[in-house]
Amino acid sequence: LILGGQVLAAKPPVPVYKDKNAPVESRVEDLLKRMTLEEKIEQLNQQTVGDNNNPNNNGYKKPTFPAGIGSLIYFSADPAFRNTVQKRAMEETRLGIPILFGYDVIHGFRTIYPISLAQGCSWNPELVEEACAVAAKETKLSGIDWTFSPMIDVARDPRWGRVSEGYGEDPYTNAMFGVASVKGYQGKKLNEQYSIAACLKHYIGYGMSEGGRDYHYADISAQSLWETYMVPYEAGVKAGAATLMSGFNDISGIPASANPYTLTEVLKGRWKHDGFVVSDWGSVEQLMAQGVAKDRKEAGLKAFMAGVEMDMVDDIYGQNLKQLIDEKKVPMTKIDDAVKRILRIKFRLGLFDNPYTPIVAERYLQPESKAVAAKLATESMVLLKNKSKVLPLGSNIKSIALVGPLAKDQADLIGNWSAQGDPKDAETIIDGFNKEFAQKAQINYAKGTEIDGTDESGIAEAVAAAQKSDVVVVCLGEKKTWSGENTSRSNISLPAIQEKLVAELKKTGKPIVLVLANGRPLELVRLEPMADAIVEMWQPGVAGGTALASIISGRVNPSGKLDITFPLTTGQIPTYYDMRQSARPNSGKYQDIPTDPLYWFGHGLSYTDFTYAPISLSAAQIHKNQKLVATVEVSNTGGVTGKETALWYIASHASSISRPMKELKHFEKKEIAAGGKYVYKFEIDPMRDLSFPDADGKKHLESGDFVIMAGNQKIKFELVD
Ligand code: BGC
Repeated sequence: LILGGQVLAAKPPVPVYKDKNAPVESRVEDLLKRMTLEEKIEQLNQQTVGDNNNPNNNGYKKPTFPAGIGSLIYFSADPAFRNTVQKRAMEETRLGIPILFGYDVIHGFRTIYPISLAQGCSWNPELVEEACAVAAKETKLSGIDWTFSPMIDVARDPRWGRVSEGYGEDPYTNAMFGVASVKGYQGKKLNEQYSIAACLKHYIGYGMSEGGRDYHYADISAQSLWETYMVPYEAGVKAGAATLMSGFNDISGIPASANPYTLTEVLKGRWKHDGFVVSDWGSVEQLMAQGVAKDRKEAGLKAFMAGVEMDMVDDIYGQNLKQLIDEKKVPMTKIDDAVKRILRIKFRLGLFDNPYTPIVAERYLQPESKAVAAKLATESMVLLKNKSKVLPLGSNIKSIALVGPLAKDQADLIGNWSAQGDPKDAETIIDGFNKEFAQKAQINYAKGTEIDGTDESGIAEAVAAAQKSDVVVVCLGEKKTWSGENTSRSNISLPAIQEKLVAELKKTGKPIVLVLANGRPLELVRLEPMADAIVEMWQPGVAGGTALASIISGRVNPSGKLDITFPLTTGQIPTYYDMRQSARPNSGKYQDIPTDPLYWFGHGLSYTDFTYAPISLSAAQIHKNQKLVATVEVSNTGGVTGKETALWYIASHASSISRPMKELKHFEKKEIAAGGKYVYKFEIDPMRDLSFPDADGKKHLESGDFVIMAGNQKIKFELVD
C-alpha cells in the first residue's frame, strides 16, 4: 500500500496464542499447530537445575538444559536466575514458550509451618488454606510457579517416614485438607498475582508401601483402593488441582507410574482432569527395577501410554519418544494430547503473558506469614494426657526445669521438606518459655542428653535442674531427618537414651510434662506411664516455641486432635480407627499386649470440659432422595473458653459388603465460651455420605440401618428406598 509516497507494511497479525484476550483453548490449539515434533517433545520434559547453594553447580551458573525445556525442577529461590533462563526460552526459541518452574513447597516456603501431619490435627482447613496462600506468595516471588504439594496419601503405617507429609490415616481428612491446600495455592484463578499450581501426590497408593518401607510395593485390593486411597484424589481433582504426580509404588503389581486404569481411565476419563501428570523423580526409569520394562525406551513407552505426560528428570521421553513415534508405538494424537495438557496449565497460569518474576526484596517472613505460622502451630498441637490437671502451669509454679535434647533445638523443629526454610528462623522452646514465663517463673535449663546415642553424662545436670524446680518439662523427639522420604523406622519408639532421661527425672518425684517433637506417631508404652502430662507439638515450624509455651501456661487452650492413631507398640501396626469390621471383634486379640492403641485418631484434650447432649435427628427414617439433619448441642462445662471439634462418624452394619467400623464424614471446629453452648450440625446427603464404592469405584446406596456418632453420643436411623 502506497499512501502519499509512504510504504505502510501490513502489521503481521499477532498469533492467537500470544493474544492474552483469546480463550485458553484457542491459544493451546493455535500454538500446538505451529509446533514441530521436537518442540512438542521438549514440553514433556522436566530437568533439574541443581542446588544453587552449591558453588560448583554448573547447571545453575551456566544452564545446560535446552532453552525450550517444558519444565525445570528448580532447587533455588532466585528470581533473577528464573528470569535469565526464562528470557532464553521466550526470546531464543522459535515460538517463545515459557518454562514452568516447579519446587517442593510442602509446609511453607521460607516461613515454615508445622508439618502437614500436624496441620491435620488443627481440624481447621480454612487456616490451612490461608497458610498455603501465604506460602504461594513467598513461592511466586521466588520465581516458582508450581508446588509438588499437597501429599494426600492416606497413611496408616507410622514406620513410613512420609506419614509426616500428609494429613494422616483418614481418607476424608486428607480430602478436606488436600482441597484446602489446593484452594490456598491456586487461589480463585491460576493467573492471579500470587497463585501457583498445585500437584496432588503421589497418585496412588504410595501410603500403603508394605511394611512401611519406602518405595516398596503396595498390595491394595481394588475395594480398598476406591474406599480409602482414591477418596482424597477425587476430591482434589474436583477442587481443580492443576496437576498430579504418579507414585513410585505399584498397586497389586501394576506400577502407579504405568497404570492406564488409574492414570487414564479414571483420572482423565471419569474425573475429566484436563491438567497433566508428572512422574515422580525417576519413576519412569524405575519401571525397569519394578520388572515391567526391559530398557529405558520400554519404560518411557509404558509410562507415556499409561498417561504420564511429563517425565521428571529421567530424560527418557526426550531420548525415546521420537523413535517410538517413528515405530508407530506412540500415536501423534497421544503426543498432542499430552502437550495440550501442559500448555493449558501454562496458559492458565498466565505464563505466556507474564513470564518473569518481579524482584521484590521483602518477600519472606512477613508479618502476615509469621502470624499464620503461629496460629497453625498453636492449633495443631495436641494435649494427649493431663493427669490431675497438671497443665496449665498455674501461678503456684515458681520454677520450671526445662530439659531435654529438643529444648534449644531449631533444625528439628522445622522438620523435613522445609524448602528454603532456615533453622535460624525457628523459635526454640526455651525462647518461648523465657518470654512466656518472664517474671512469673524461673526457667532452669539442662539439655540432659542428645536425641540419640549413649552419652548419659548430662543426665545428672538435668536431674539437678529438676530437683530445684516445681515441675519438669522434658522436650523429647526425633531428628528431622527421621521423617520424610526414605526414612522408614522399624521401631517407632524414641531412643533408649531419652527414655532413660525421663526415668531418672521421674525419680525426683516432681510432676513430669513430656513435650514431643516428632514427625510420626511414637510408641510411648514406656514413657506414657512416667508422664503426668504429654503435649504433642509435632515439628511445628518457625513459631513452635511461643505456641508451645502459650499452651503450657494456659494462655491458649489446646484444641488439636490426632489425625493419626498412636499405636501402643510398634507391633500393633497397622492400627487405624476405620478398620473393617472383624468376624470376632472381641476375640482376635494379641496375647502379649492390649489390642487397643494408646491414642486413637480423634484423641485430644482441652483445659475445659465439653459435654455432648444426645444427638437429635430431623427424622428417624429417610428416603434415599431426602436429606437428614443431625444436630448435637455441646456445652462448655469446664470454666475456660475453648475450641471443640465435633467429629461426625457414620457406621452401617448391614451392607452387601463389609464396611469400616465407622467413617468420618464431617467435622466442625468452633470456639465455645466458658459456660456457653453451641449446636453443631451435619446435613447428611445420602448419596454423598451413606453410599460406598465397589471395586470399580461405582457408588452404591443401600437401604438399611445406620448409626451416626459425635463425641460420646450415637443414634440410629434408617434409610429406605
Ligand atoms: C519425591 C516427591 C518430590 C520429588 C521432587 C521425589 O523423590 O518422592 O515427593 O516431589 O522428589 O523433589
